[in-house]
Amino acid sequence: VIKNLEHAQKLSQDFDIPLEDILLIGINLAGVKAEMPDQRIRFKIKLRNLKEWFYMGICVNIGKTPFYIKKNNLYIQNEKIGKIAEVENDTCDTTYLRRNNTSINLNSNCRSGCFGCKFCGTYKQDADDKVLLLDFKKLENKFSCTFSGKVKNILEICLCTGCFKDEEEVIQHLLMIRNWCETKKIDPRIKYIGSQITEKKNLNLIQNKIPKFSYYLTIECFNRRNFMLRNSKARVSLEKAQHLMNYSTKIGLNTTFLYILGLDSISSISRHFKKYAKSINRFPIVNLMQIYYKGQEELRHKEADQIEYYLKARKIIEKIFIKSKLRPELWENYRGLWYTKFDKENLTGFKM
Ligand code: SF4
Repeated sequence: VIKNLEHAQKLSQDFDIPLEDILLIGINLAGVKAEMPDQRIRFKIKLRNLKEWFYMGICVNIGKTPFYIKKNNLYIQNEKIGKIAEVENDTCDTTYLRRNNTSINLNSNCRSGCFGCKFCGTYKQDADDKVLLLDFKKLENKFSCTFSGKVKNILEICLCTGCFKDEEEVIQHLLMIRNWCETKKIDPRIKYIGSQITEKKNLNLIQNKIPKFSYYLTIECFNRRNFMLRNSKARVSLEKAQHLMNYSTKIGLNTTFLYILGLDSISSISRHFKKYAKSINRFPIVNLMQIYYKGQEELRHKEADQIEYYLKARKIIEKIFIKSKLRPELWENYRGLWYTKFDKENLTGFKM
C-alpha cells in the first residue's frame, strides 16, 4: 500500500514511473474510504497535474487505504490529489459503452450469477444483469432501448462472460450477435473475452462467419490454477492456452490474453509473459487484483502485498514488449497497470 504522497514520489523516482501512474495504481489496489453506503463505485477521475480524465471501478471502505473521497475530491492522507465525477454504484450490467461510445461491452448471460474464480468479485456487486439476452428478440430490444441513435457508431461489440452452458452455446451466441449486426447493416469487430472457446474447428468457423473477430483468452494466473479458477477455466492448461493463441494468431484473429496481477511470483510473471508474448498480436490486458471483501487479500502471492511488486511487474512487462508495436489500450482496462506512459512513451488514444 502507498503510505502518503511523499512515499508515492519516492517510488516514482526509484522506479522512473510517473507519479500519476503510481497514484492511480495505488487507488486501484487499495480502494478508498468514503462516507457512502455503496461497497463498490465507478467514476471518472482526474489527478491534479493531468489534463485527461480516466475511469475506474474500485471498492469502498474495505481494508487499509490512504485514499479517501470527500465532496468529489480525492485525497491521499490530507493532501488533495484530484477530483472525481459521475460517481455511481458499480453494478454488474448487461451492457454499457466504452471507447467514447463506440464499443459495446455485452454480458448477456448473467455474469453476476457466475461463481468459482476465487479472485472474482462480480457476484458481490449489485446485479443489473438478471434479464438474459440470449435470444435475438431480447438482445435487439436491449440494444435498441439502450443505444438507440448510437448504433451506427458502434465499431466493436465485446462479449465478456464466462458462464455459458458450453462452447456450442458461446458460438451460437456470437453468431447471433453477428446476425444482429447484419440486420442493422453495421460491421463492427466482435471480441470474445473468455475461455470457453477451445476447439480449433470453432475458431475456423468463427473466422468464416465473423470477418473481424478478436479472441481474448482469460488465462488469469499461472500457478495454483485448479484452486484459483472455476473448473471450466482451469481445465484449459497453460500449454493448451498457448497452443490456442498460436493458432488464433496464425489464422489472423486479433489475439491476446487477460491476466490478474497479484497472484503469481515476479519470476513466474517474467517467465510466462516472455513465452506468451510470442503467441499474441495484441497487448495483454493486465488487471490489478482488487479486494472485494475482507479475507480476499490472502489470495495474493506473498510478494504482492508490497506496491513495489506491481511496479517491478510493470517494468518487466515493458521490457518484454518494448521492441514490439503492442501497447496497452487504456479504454479496454479500468483497473490497469498503465495510465500515462509505457516506458518512456506517452500513451495516447481513448481513455474510457
Ligand atoms: S468466469 Fe470467473 S472471473 Fe469470470 S465472472 Fe465467472 S467467476 Fe468471475
